[in-house]
Amino acid sequence: MRNTFHFDTQIIGIIGHPIKHSYSPFIHNVAIELKKIDYVYLPFDIPSSNLRSALKGMTALGIRGLNVTIPHKEAAIQYMNNLSEEVTMIGSINTIVNDQGKLIGHNTDDYGILETLLPFKDDILGNQVCVIGAGGSARTVIYTLIRHFKPKKLFIINRNERRAENLKDFFTEKMKFSSIKTKELIPPAAFEVMKDSKLIIHATPVGMNPNENDSITTSSDVFSKGQIVFDLVYNPQNTLLLKTAIRAGAKTLNGLNMLVNQAAKSFELWTGVDFPKEEVQKSLQLYLSN
Ligand code: NAP
Repeated sequence: MRNTFHFDTQIIGIIGHPIKHSYSPFIHNVAIELKKIDYVYLPFDIPSSNLRSALKGMTALGIRGLNVTIPHKEAAIQYMNNLSEEVTMIGSINTIVNDQGKLIGHNTDDYGILETLLPFKDDILGNQVCVIGAGGSARTVIYTLIRHFKPKKLFIINRNERRAENLKDFFTEKMKFSSIKTKELIPPAAFEVMKDSKLIIHATPVGMNPNENDSITTSSDVFSKGQIVFDLVYNPQNTLLLKTAIRAGAKTLNGLNMLVNQAAKSFELWTGVDFPKEEVQKSLQLYLSN
C-alpha cells in the first residue's frame, strides 16, 4: 500500500458506526493502487450524534466522496443538496459525491444487485420470485427487480408482515407494479412460496457472522434444482442458507459480487476511472481466505 500523499491527493472514504469490519477500505485502496490514481480511501467511525458535523466537515475539508453505511443510510439524506433518481425510490443513500461543495446522494446497491442478477434475466422474466426481508436492502432488491426484470409475481416474505405490506403498497403505487404479494415468515406457508419461486433472494442479516449457525431454513426440501438462491450476506460467503440450497441442487449466489459491483459504481462516480472489477474480486477472495 502506498504511503506518500500530496497536496493533490483526493480523499474518499466511508462513514458508519461501527465501521471496523467493513471491506470497503480494502476494495477501494486495491482499486486505487491498480489504477495508479492519486486517491486514498479511509474509514471514519461516526456515531449518529456526529453525522451532521461530519458531513459539514466533508464539504469544509474538500473530501471528494464517501460511502455511507449503517446506521446513516437514511439519516444522511436530509443533509444532501441533491439526490439521484433511484434514491427517491430506495429511500436511502450509500454514496455521496462532493461536487464542488454540493453533496449529491446516490445509491449504488441497485447496480450491485443488477450486475449480480443480469446473467439470470431470462430465468426471472415470466417467473415467480420471492424476497425474504423488508428492510433497507430488501427495498433496494424489490426496486431493482421491478425496474429491470419485471417478474410475473413478486412475493415479499417477512417476519413482520405489516412491513412487507407497506413495501407492497409503496411499490404498487410508485412503480405501478401490481404483481406484489406478501407472506409472513412462518412455515409452512412461507416455505411453499419459496418452493414455488424460480429466484429466492435473502435480504435479512440472519446467518451473518458471528451468527453463522442461524438460517431462515435448514430444510433442503424448500429448494430444488433449477432454482437460483441469492443471499445478500457476504460474511460468511457460504451461509447455512446457501449450503442448504446447494444440497438440493440449486444455483447459489452470495453477496460478494454485489459488494464489489456497488463499490465499482461508487468508485466511478468519484474518480471517473473504470473500476478493475476482476482484479479486485480476486484480491478480495485471497484476502478473505487468509
Ligand atoms: P435491515 O434493514 O436491518 O434488515 C432488517 C430485515 O431483516 C427486516 O426485514 C427484519 O424483519 C429481518 N430480520 C432481522 N432479524 C431477523 C430474524 N432473526 N429473523 C427473521 N427476520 C429478521 O438490514 P439490511 O440493511 O436490509 O441488510 C440485510 C442484509 O443484507 C445484511 O446481512 C447485510 O450485510 C446485507 N447487505 C449486503 C450488501 C452487499 O453488498 N452484499 C449490501 C447491503 C446489505 P422484521 O421487519 O420482522 O424486523
